Amino acid sequence: MKYLGSMPDSFFRILSAEEEEVFRQWVRDNWKPDYKPEGFPVMHPVVRDEWRKLDEEDSSEPPLLASCDICEKLAELTRIVECGIDTDACQDCINNPTY
Ligand SMILES: [Zn+2]
Repeated sequence: MKYLGSMPDSFFRILSAEEEEVFRQWVRDNWKPDYKPEGFPVMHPVVRDEWRKLDEEDSSEPPLLASCDICEKLAELTRIVECGIDTDACQDCINNPTY
């Protein structure tokens, strides 16, 4: 990838499919969370595009935690609607119903 750094800022050549794959592979090999390589803003759009995708995958939030209606623990809740009960319960409470 040594030719990347010597590219004029305002000019990016069209890559062949093989070259584009090499660029994207380079990103996957070099990507780290919360990190941008030196000169990132002037890197090839294909590189920035792939980098952004990996950033987005990394920042996809884990399921939102909320407090269980039954035990009040913070957990990933499941809504239970049965026997007149309509509540958001954690997996523990669902496995061991105390209501
Ligand atoms: Zn619970």
